[in-house]
Amino acid sequence: MTFLDELAGLLGDELLLDDHARHSQARDTWSRSEFDQWQGRLVMPAAIAVPSTTEKLAETVRLCRAHGVPMIPRGAGSGCVGGVLASSDSVVISTEGLSGLRWLDPVDGLASFGAGTMGIDAENQVRQDGFTIGHWPQSIEISSVGGWVATRASGQYSTAYGNIEDIVYSVEAVLPDGSIYRSRPTPRASAGPDLRQLLLGSEGTLGIITEVTFSLRPLPEPGVRQAFHFQDMTAGLDAIRSVIVPGWRPPVVRLYDAGETRRHFRDHVPKGRCVAIFLHEGPPGHAALEASAVAELCRTGGGEQADPGAVDHWFEHRNTVPTWTELFEQGLVADTIEVATGWRHLARLYKATIEAIKAVPTVVSATAHTSHAYRSGANLYFTFAAQPSDPQEYVSVYDACWAAAMQAAIDCGAGISHHHGIGRVRRPWMADELGDAGVGLLRAVKAALDPDNLMNPGVLIPD
Ligand SMILES: Cc1cc2nc3c(=O)[nH]c(=O)nc-3n(C[C@H](O)[C@H](O)[C@H](O)COP(=O)(O)OP(=O)(O)OC[C@H]3O[C@@H](n4cnc5c(N)ncnc54)[C@H](O)[C@@H]3O)c2cc1C
Repeated sequence: MTFLDELAGLLGDELLLDDHARHSQARDTWSRSEFDQWQGRLVMPAAIAVPSTTEKLAETVRLCRAHGVPMIPRGAGSGCVGGVLASSDSVVISTEGLSGLRWLDPVDGLASFGAGTMGIDAENQVRQDGFTIGHWPQSIEISSVGGWVATRASGQYSTAYGNIEDIVYSVEAVLPDGSIYRSRPTPRASAGPDLRQLLLGSEGTLGIITEVTFSLRPLPEPGVRQAFHFQDMTAGLDAIRSVIVPGWRPPVVRLYDAGETRRHFRDHVPKGRCVAIFLHEGPPGHAALEASAVAELCRTGGGEQADPGAVDHWFEHRNTVPTWTELFEQGLVADTIEVATGWRHLARLYKATIEAIKAVPTVVSATAHTSHAYRSGANLYFTFAAQPSDPQEYVSVYDACWAAAMQAAIDCGAGISHHHGIGRVRRPWMADELGDAGVGLLRAVKAALDPDNLMNPGVLIPD
């Protein structure tokens, strides 16, 4: 009996072998994979496993391991760094069959979902009971809750509610040997290292998350929206710091450079200015108090009140992005790159990265915004586009833009990824990020859990 016969015996119609399934599940939305697909060069996996229970998924893992077959964990495939990219001998293990609400406890404010539940479905489900997960990535309609955990995702409300690691209460996962790990669902533990952290951001290399329990918040009342514009990014960043450091936490805090302000808010903000948008919400009375304090701080920092329609405009369009194919058809090579650093270095990082990307031949645009602020710093989210005359230069131009941005981040002492993860695209810079000892530690964990390197080989962990 061949391996695929054995797998079919285990999974029945939860094993997909047709070309359509193998083609559509072979990758995530990484620009380079999309380009390969556009060029008709995509490799398909041997099969797609869609187990409907944790136990069946564990058996699938055991069988793959016994036969030395590479496994590619896949949520909804919205990742943008090449974390899902099948080889022809691999089996994609999809969490799509592990979907839906498992239980909700309104007293403790907890809800548990199968890892393949789409983000928007999980959020809509808890809203029926008056709760929110408080995690709203731009990809909420196209990503799974397990994928959020596996990539250490960030939502648009993170400045008040935290990132996924602050919202996850407990996890269940199948480890590379097929054993099932469940973290104890308690509000806090002093019981050695927090093993959930091994799975948070593991990008499918250390196990497959099968269930996620969230600590919920009550749905807030409608919030207060306001916007201010500043003469440049430095002034805007200083103003945001003056808001965050004393302890104000508007869920949405976003500052756009002049290029992005022009691109997204031209009807609301004068040309050449950088707009900062805020959403304030919380218990009754909090939003108005916070809005007034933030307005005062922004004015003190040189900000001028902008049309609050800018914030409404952002809310209406916040989940809309062009497809890669639309951009390829215009001859454009594009991507986004998010990094993070302390307040002291942010303005320098912004300038250095924009300059470095613009120095790459054929680049036509490099812009940025910040969207996640912390007591000691914030992220910067760059968007670049280049227009090489020859489509064959796509990959070299794309790689050069990434190398320029990563080197600028490293030179400024910044972290190389804020929330999209490492995947394949950032892997060459992981040694800069972690240091030799850190790489050694990560490799040792990988070798202990997955000695044959069968779980998502080629992702996250440097060779
Ligand atoms: C338009 C767009 C907007 C985006 N906006 C945001 C944003 O606002 N914030 C943000 O953080 N990210 C964002 N992303 C990136 C992406 O949506 C996130 O990384 C998301 O968390 C991936 O979830 P997924 O289910 O689609 O995972 P996938 O793409 O399927 O997988 C991503 C990685 O996680 C692994 N993985 C997935 N599920 C599991 C699992 N259950 N167990 C173990 N490993 C698993 C995969 O092997 C892969 O390495 C955006 C992407 C797009 C295309």
